[in-house]
Amino acid sequence: MERTGRGKTILSYLGRALMLRCPVCGITHIFLPFFRTRSLRDWFTPLDGCPRCGYPYEREPGYFLASTWVINYGTGSILGIFIYVILESFYHLDIVSLLLAVLSPIVVFNILFARHSKSIFIALDHFFDPHEKDSGDEGGNLPNTHPPTRDSDGPAKPLGAPVKDPKKSIDKTPKPTAIY
Ligand SMILES: [Zn+2]
Repeated sequence: MERTGRGKTILSYLGRALMLRCPVCGITHIFLPFFRTRSLRDWFTPLDGCPRCGYPYEREPGYFLASTWVINYGTGSILGIFIYVILESFYHLDIVSLLLAVLSPIVVFNILFARHSKSIFIALDHFFDPHEKDSGDEGGNLPNTHPPTRDSDGPAKPLGAPVKDPKKSIDKTPKPTAIY
C-alpha cells in the first residue's frame, strides 16, 4: 500500500477523517463538538486549524467545493439511486410519494454527512499533497520564518527610504576643463 514519508497509510488518514479528527496528529477534532454547536455555521464550518499541531484545515476560499459537490452530493446521489431502485423494484408508488421517499433521506443525509465529507477531503488532500514542504507562506503547516512585508489589508508598502544605487549617484555634472 502506498505510504507517505511518515509511514501513515491512507487508511489511517481516512480512519481519522471518519472520527472527524485532524489528519496530522489524529487527536483534536476538526469541528466544534456537537454540544457546543449553536448554529448551522458551527455545524458546517471547520475550525481554522488544529490547535495542537497547527495544520490549517481550510487553506483558501472555495477549498471545500470539491468535498461538497463530489463527496457529499455524490454519495447522496448514490444513496438516492439505491433507494429509488429498491422502491421501484418492490413497491409501486405514485410519483409524488416516490420523490418524497427518495429526496427526503438525501437531504437529511447531506446535512449529517457534510462534516465527514470535509474531513475526508482534508485527509485525502493531506495524503496526496502533504503541505509540509514549505514554510507556511503558501498554506503549509510549518511556522512561517519570514515575516510578511505588507499589511494584511493593503498593497505592498515601501519598507523605508529608497536606497540609492552608488553607481547612479556619481556626480555627472561636467567638470570645467582647463583651457591652455
Ligand atoms: Zn493536529
